[in-house]
Amino acid sequence: MSDSSLREKPPITKPAERPRLGITAMIPCYNEIACVERAYQEIRSELAAYDDVELLFVDDGSTDGTLEAIKGFAAADPRVKYLSFARNFGLEAAFSAGFKYASKPWTVQFDADLQSPPEEMHRLVDKALEGYDVVFAVRENRQDPWYRRLGTSGHQLIARRWLGIELPPGASVFRIVKTSVARKVVDSRLTTPYFIATAPLLGARYTTLPTSHRPRVDGQGKWNLRKLVSHAVELFVGFSFRPLVWLSALAAVVVVAGVTVLALALAGRFGPTELAEASLVTGLITLVTLAVVARYLVRMMRVQAIGVPRYQIREANIPIRADEALYGYETPYVGTEVWENAS
Ligand code: UDP
Ligand code: MG
Repeated sequence: MSDSSLREKPPITKPAERPRLGITAMIPCYNEIACVERAYQEIRSELAAYDDVELLFVDDGSTDGTLEAIKGFAAADPRVKYLSFARNFGLEAAFSAGFKYASKPWTVQFDADLQSPPEEMHRLVDKALEGYDVVFAVRENRQDPWYRRLGTSGHQLIARRWLGIELPPGASVFRIVKTSVARKVVDSRLTTPYFIATAPLLGARYTTLPTSHRPRVDGQGKWNLRKLVSHAVELFVGFSFRPLVWLSALAAVVVVAGVTVLALALAGRFGPTELAEASLVTGLITLVTLAVVARYLVRMMRVQAIGVPRYQIREANIPIRADEALYGYETPYVGTEVWENAS
């Protein structure tokens, strides 16, 4: 995995007139009843600048009436499409589905809570037209709690500096992506899903653009500490083998230290207390090693499961693939059992 410099490549297209771009505005929503109406209104008014648009809501298993609100928009506005998951499958699954079912050449991903103002989309569009496949917004003066900001910069720094993972620095989920490229990224079987790390691996031309940021307009953030940590760990083990390499080096150090301690004990220079302390340290190192190896095993299992759909769709107002639809197979199931006639 190469170094984390941006791929500043020469433009491949001339900036065209904005209005003629085909754009899918994709909005993942999980229990966003407090924001979804305002999101629809704001995004719709920005889309008025373009001729060929659709709004694709991905309801990630909401239980608070978000889907009913979306259906209301769809009833009044034929450009509104929606997919509704059978349960909450997580943001990564939601936007993966959004990219797959987007029907326009470009997809802009929005947040339903409007933290990244929809009016910034035009700057993303203009930047993309300079010749990029993906333009990631970077939140200027990010309006989230300090631990969220620290968490993001911390884990991105570890990923880039220590683990050699190429990541667009500070990239948020507010972004414009060439839909065909986005589909490649979400269908990629390279490793575990993680959009901002997979796009560079595939060679997508990407850049970042600072955009304004504001607090959530209403409702609750969906991230807790457990989700944030597991998202970071997924990035580390999904895109770098360096921790495993470090474990081999650690094993060599522990062996040398162990042999030295043993020699000192035999020579009578180490008593039972020192030996007990040395065993404790070795035990702790073994536990850490096991934990790291366990994470890689989980990763392997996840990669094996990549062919299996990451989500199931319960309802939609567009055609969906049978294997991704909870009620998708219409032919009756035929079992393999042969029932003997008892008489
Ligand atoms: N979201 C989702 N599924 C989830 C969590 C979040 O679709 O499991 C959506 C959410 O409704 C919102 C966007 O992802 O539109 C960003 O979520 P949130 O505002 O909670 O994230 P933050 O801004 O705190 O990073
Ligand atoms: Mg938010």
